[in-house]
Amino acid sequence: MTVVDVNSWAARAIRRLHAEGGGAQTPLRRLPLPAGWHVEVYLKDESAHPTGTVKHRLVRALYCHAIASGRIGPETEVVTGTGGPVAVAGAYFARLLGLSFTAVLPARTPAAVRDGVERYGGRWHTAEQPPAALQREAAQVAEGLGGHALDHFADAAQAVLGCGAPTVADEIFDQLRGTGHPVPRWIVTGAGTGATSATTGRHLRRHGYDARLAVVDPEGSAYFPGWTLGRRDYTTGLPSRIPGIGRPRVEPAFEPGVVDLVIPVPDAASPAAVRWLARTAGLAAGPATGTVLWGLCHLVAGLVERGTPGSVVAVAGDGARPDDTVPAARSHAPDPYEAALDRFLSTARSPVVDGGVG
Ligand SMILES: *Cc1c(COP(=O)(O)O)cnc(C)c1O
Repeated sequence: MTVVDVNSWAARAIRRLHAEGGGAQTPLRRLPLPAGWHVEVYLKDESAHPTGTVKHRLVRALYCHAIASGRIGPETEVVTGTGGPVAVAGAYFARLLGLSFTAVLPARTPAAVRDGVERYGGRWHTAEQPPAALQREAAQVAEGLGGHALDHFADAAQAVLGCGAPTVADEIFDQLRGTGHPVPRWIVTGAGTGATSATTGRHLRRHGYDARLAVVDPEGSAYFPGWTLGRRDYTTGLPSRIPGIGRPRVEPAFEPGVVDLVIPVPDAASPAAVRWLARTAGLAAGPATGTVLWGLCHLVAGLVERGTPGSVVAVAGDGARPDDTVPAARSHAPDPYEAALDRFLSTARSPVVDGGVG
């Protein structure tokens, strides 16, 4: 039997994670707006990560934290319990580090996720569990294998505090340098685990930037009512229809104190904004990117109304996937929302306060 030096393995693994994170930045794409508005808008395209999702950064940080804490070593089987992109990113980083990986998936997992896990050499099996119980099942599987279960909701808060790789906010400010408005008026994100918004909000405050953070929140999610009422324990118990964002409870990594505004977004507005983006800018995006775009247009309208020049950046978490079904809207058709976005472009009126919508 060869003796594996666990410490030098961990050092090599962390350096490999840092190198991966210090590679290509995701693109900051400028969207066209009428020049007379004196407002520049950008989408930070997090779908450009190798695994196609904003979760790429979080999963890298989870590995980094677990290795630095001695919970993942050279022989550790890594397990996830989710049917979302965290499973794909989990498999990707396991392969990068030479670890074996198992995804416990819900019965109805999109083919793109199953294929993604396989592409990076991961194993998967499905469990007849409601989504809330999957993480427990993953923990049991990990225990049986002497492995480690990544829990992106429970561990995000710790992980994002310090992995050393550039954060989404580091990259945004780096990329805005040399533009007309290097400090944006607003950055807009969605919230799933809450990690992206917490990292971004802390970045703004730590550097003393005069920039504000807005979070968009779909129907049924706890973040808007919880933030508005100042209650961390707020629960709705309702699932979100927009993949990746909106939660039935306020997750531990969400940092309400660094959020300046939460914008509730009707479900039908998200697919409407996706269609509008494709038609007006020729960019393909996923539903959660539609949600941030809706919030971005509202903030831009406010700047134009007050005659305030500046820039606004939205963090786009997902790209279009062939098997993505547009989430069914709970109560409205997308068309009036798309029309409100067209009126926004011609009048600078906020689609949120536009009288034409439901
Ligand atoms: C997870 C996710 C987000 C939000 O990221 P968190 O850091 O988990 O809050 C946004 N968009 C998409 C598509 C996501 O999957």
